[in-house]
Amino acid sequence: MEERSLHFIEQEIEEDNRTGRYEKRVHTRFPPEPNGYLHIGHAKSICLNFGAAARYGGLCNLRFDDTNPTKKDVEYVESIMADVRWLGFDWGDRLFYASQYFGQIYEYAENLIRTGKAYVCELSADQIREHRGTLTSPGKPSPWRERPAPESLDLFRRMRAGEFPDGSRTLRAKIDLASGNINLRDPVLYRILRAPHHRTGTTWCIYPMYDFAHGQCDSLERITHSICTLEFEDHRPLYDWFVQSLGIYAPRQIEFARLNLTYTLMSKRKLLELVRDGLVRGWDDPRMPTLCGLRRRGYTPEAIRAFCQRIGVAKMNSTIEVGVLENAIREDLNRRAPRVMGVLRPLRVVVENVPEGRVEDFELANNPEDTAAGTRRVPFSRDLFIEREDFMEEPPKKYFRLAPGREVRLRGGYFLKCDRVVKDAQGAVSELRCSIDPATRGGQAPDGRKVKGTIHWVSAAQAIRAEVRIYETLFTRPDPDEGGDYRRNLNPRSLEVLKDCLLERSVAGAAPGKTVQFERHGYFCVDPDSREGALVFNRTVSLRDTWAKIQEKE
Ligand code: ATP
Ligand code: MG
Repeated sequence: MEERSLHFIEQEIEEDNRTGRYEKRVHTRFPPEPNGYLHIGHAKSICLNFGAAARYGGLCNLRFDDTNPTKKDVEYVESIMADVRWLGFDWGDRLFYASQYFGQIYEYAENLIRTGKAYVCELSADQIREHRGTLTSPGKPSPWRERPAPESLDLFRRMRAGEFPDGSRTLRAKIDLASGNINLRDPVLYRILRAPHHRTGTTWCIYPMYDFAHGQCDSLERITHSICTLEFEDHRPLYDWFVQSLGIYAPRQIEFARLNLTYTLMSKRKLLELVRDGLVRGWDDPRMPTLCGLRRRGYTPEAIRAFCQRIGVAKMNSTIEVGVLENAIREDLNRRAPRVMGVLRPLRVVVENVPEGRVEDFELANNPEDTAAGTRRVPFSRDLFIEREDFMEEPPKKYFRLAPGREVRLRGGYFLKCDRVVKDAQGAVSELRCSIDPATRGGQAPDGRKVKGTIHWVSAAQAIRAEVRIYETLFTRPDPDEGGDYRRNLNPRSLEVLKDCLLERSVAGAAPGKTVQFERHGYFCVDPDSREGALVFNRTVSLRDTWAKIQEKE
């Protein structure tokens, strides 16, 4: 594990271990609601919960928070499990669903009624809201607040039995209508809702509210530290009130700041809209911040974990630059991705002093950062392709690449000189006629003359054709919600598809998920859309200054 100072949650855990509050146990849980796919924000929570358990020899449960019966889908449950595993975490045999505790939670509710701490209320949802008051005015008591416990108990049982229509009654806790914390002004514990549940079917027509379920589930699983995001801070007194009033084992809730990233939407509801409205190609569109999108884009679990480690854990909300995430994947792939040459926008080059049909191989390092990665043979011949932007007919001052009469180094080999420019009928450059200096095979001139530019290339006959998808941020604004509607901030250039890219033969047959570095372009990952002989690559991330280093070495 990387050396670093403890974050505040780890400090809290160590303090609890010191005082023996939980007999030195550390037991956390990751509690996703199965109503969407996991995103990079969830990764922070996963790393935090599973990470804390691992660090202190404890356990972490996976618990689906499925108290809300609508909008649930097994598709989400399965994708969430796959994503947590992919990130590198294991919940062992501790997979739980809040819904499996419905029977116990119901008993807890009866218990509160019997002890005078809950009552059946017949106000409508709107009336409850009116009675609740505001931050500056206290709440008004419900006319049903002082109803005798036996009457509430009877009504609650009849609610469960299905005697009353949806929304006609609720069970409410009897706490404090004058509390400055509105969550304590007699919150609703149960509502009547005839909606089939994806696990319990039609067994229940009353469902507990999230607040009345979450802490009790934590308690039943003997969670020690219930780590959640800051918006639950105001719910903590309620969390504590329930476990105290019920006299059950008490975990402690600790809140941390959720992850926000520039240029990135993190709301599950809005991500769902993007998918549903066809604004992206699906949950796993490589522009999505979902874990499946990042995976398809070429992100590795190691990079995401390193990112989560780097951003730390704080109590104050903030927004992280998306570049921090990009750096994490760059660093990881720099170490492990084999280098290849890929020409994304090809321009034909004929090397006139190389005879037709002659092919010679250059031996190039697969990864200068990793000598164990070995070398590969790259064919060189008379017919090449170079990057269109590596040639300019009238180069500006600081342009060191190819131009008429100019010499550059071909990556891995000869100096190449542009002797003549061939144009098509429209006057566009269609081909360059060039020559090499045979004495420069190793990339150096015996006479000591220098070239300032080194360009990549592929040999036409051996190159393989591929589609390459170049991504930019999905939004044009650091805050996608700026102006109130993220749709207005969608980036029209977030996807560019290049159909006729030419790649070095070493990538032929690469399987989906395989990541490589196209020298000078960035890191790219084979997309599952690839077919036999028709590779599709996604650009994971562009390079920054890696190329500058290569040039210095040569
Ligand atoms: P919703 O917006 O539907 O309430 P959510 O984003 O809170 O969803 P959950 O499925 O409830 O998603 O989240 C599971 C866990 O992940 C929760 O503990 C939640 O606090 C945490 N989490 C969600 N979003 C982030 C985020 N951006 N940063 C850190 N943790 C997050
Ligand atoms: Mg939530």
